[in-house]
Amino acid sequence: MAAHQEKKPSEERNRKSTQNGTRTSQVQWGRAWEVDWFSLASILFLLMFAPLIVYFFIMSCDQYQCSLIDPVIDLLTGNKYLSDIWNKTPTLTYRAAGIYTLWVAFQVFLYVCIPDFCHKFLPGYVGGVQEGAVTPAGVVNKYEINGLQAWIITHVLWFANAYYFHCFSPTIIFDNWIPLLWCANILGYAVSTFAMIKGYFFPTNAKDCKFTGNFFYDYMMGIEFNPRIGKWFDFKLFFNGRPGIVAWTLINLSYAAKQQELYGQVTNSMILVNVLQGIYVLDFFWNEAWYLKTIDICHDHFGWYLGWGDCVWLPYLYTLQGLYLVYHPVQLGTANAIGILMLGLIGYYVFRMTNHQKDLFRRTNGNCKIWGKKPEYIECSYMSVDGTKYHSKLMTSGFWGWARHFNYTGDLMGSLAYCLTCGFDHILPYFYIVYMTILLTHRCIRDEHRCLSKYGKDWKRYTSAVPYRLIPGIF
Ligand code: NDP
Repeated sequence: MAAHQEKKPSEERNRKSTQNGTRTSQVQWGRAWEVDWFSLASILFLLMFAPLIVYFFIMSCDQYQCSLIDPVIDLLTGNKYLSDIWNKTPTLTYRAAGIYTLWVAFQVFLYVCIPDFCHKFLPGYVGGVQEGAVTPAGVVNKYEINGLQAWIITHVLWFANAYYFHCFSPTIIFDNWIPLLWCANILGYAVSTFAMIKGYFFPTNAKDCKFTGNFFYDYMMGIEFNPRIGKWFDFKLFFNGRPGIVAWTLINLSYAAKQQELYGQVTNSMILVNVLQGIYVLDFFWNEAWYLKTIDICHDHFGWYLGWGDCVWLPYLYTLQGLYLVYHPVQLGTANAIGILMLGLIGYYVFRMTNHQKDLFRRTNGNCKIWGKKPEYIECSYMSVDGTKYHSKLMTSGFWGWARHFNYTGDLMGSLAYCLTCGFDHILPYFYIVYMTILLTHRCIRDEHRCLSKYGKDWKRYTSAVPYRLIPGIF
């Protein structure tokens, strides 16, 4: 751990402090206590409209060949009523409920019952029991990192079925896509509601709970920081990684299988989507231990935003390019395909190297080489809720000297590459880059707000040393 600690006298612990020159409550850096009207309005908007947005996109593909404009025109001109669209929408089926229950149960089994063996034979892979970051209450959680193994087992079984056992068609996901949407919603709402009740009545760590007093904010952003059942079943790690991200590559494979079934071939654009997103997913699992130090695990509480988001938003909207290509099989020219591949790979390189530099820097406490040189950094300190003082460092060289979130820039380049595979006939596949730009810009601002509360004047020294957020010289 890069953070070193020293105890403060107990009487200093819970008072408001002028920490590092910035007046702030010491318990504030985990999440905002007071809900401003803008946050509340955004939350109400998302709670009401995010499920409708997902439905609108998936329905548009099912009923309008992925056109987002045609259903609007139909409704505005009175050509169709909402009830017509709704009546044509496939309902929840026993088959979908069975598939979904088996799928989630299988992922729970892989997560809980099979300790990691990959780290024993894969050089460089960090798996098995690992520690997370220090929580605002000063707790360090342990996690069983076995996502790569779950991903490998799931995909080996998938291919074994597709090429050998033939127990079900590889198009099964596409063929049940809307009935599965209802199942994903049921799980997403159930887990978010359960997490809220648990936060009130039997939290895993009461000191890491935060109550704003606003029901909607607490439901959306979560009360508990790291809700768990038993010692190992961690909600955040499971829901983000397993039903969400393991499914991502399977969903894309199912789309490719559907293209094969419908057109007798898989287009190069579909292969590109599968390969580029596959690299991103594999990277996630290869670096699952590193993921414990990212914002989702380190800073966000577990509420509807993560619970429903992981069950519904992620698998349904992150895979829109593959879905679109089933309806519009695009065969790219060689130059375009190579250009998109290069953009995707360069984006991935920037994303990975930036994340790697920070991880290496933090793991070695700055005793490493970044681009062949000793890293430059700013010393900083912060306090946890129990008054313990920690020291940390903010790197100002490598990609972290170019911009404060160059990892997001690489992520955005990769996201654009996915969208470009679909050509320019429809706007639906471009939803992803628009969404990622909003998500990562908002995340950047949110993270910086939190870092300012945490590090105070040290953070200001850092932002003077590295003035740009995402694009050097521009933003
Ligand atoms: P970061 O990995 O950028 O982590 C931000 C944290 O890093 C800060 O809160 C701070 O934490 C620490 N930090 C900030 N600046 C420095 C510095 N100069 N030197 C050392 N440490 C620093 O953010 P995320 O967790 O949001 O993102 C991780 C990756 O995941 C990104 O590449 C992002 O693109 C990707 N991502 C993808 C999403 C998707 O849906 N596809 C969604 C979200 C993220 P501390 O308190 O420890 O100092």
